[in-house]
Amino acid sequence: MPSSPTVQELLKRNAQSAKNHEPIPTLTEISQLPAEQQLPMPKWFIVSCCDNRIDPFEILGLEKWDAVVVRSCAGRIAPQMQNLLFLDNVLHFTDVMIMHHTDCSAELFKNDDLRDILKERAPEESATIEELRLPGFDE
Ligand SMILES: [Zn+2]
Repeated sequence: MPSSPTVQELLKRNAQSAKNHEPIPTLTEISQLPAEQQLPMPKWFIVSCCDNRIDPFEILGLEKWDAVVVRSCAGRIAPQMQNLLFLDNVLHFTDVMIMHHTDCSAELFKNDDLRDILKERAPEESATIEELRLPGFDE
């Protein structure tokens, strides 16, 4: 199994990518474009699981400007609500999609089990941990 890249490798990749980087238009530049040159703003807000086996752009055949795709554990929308409300104020989404998938690792544990593990790791934070909204299943 290949290992994850190191920080040094990522920095090297970033430096390589920066050599060919073309800056994206700024928001000011976009707002000053004539109507016929305006960029399409995403109208879909899609929440998907952060499982790397799932690629909503690939699965749904999306182009870059079709959707804002955010990821959260188990594809839960609750952690994304602030992002949705903030961005909707600007983009005026027409649709929201919650995209779950089979074989989600969130099915492997229950929230109470995770709380117990977290409390073992940080017993001084037990009260805070007890109040956490977790993405796993409760039953
Ligand atoms: Zn998942």
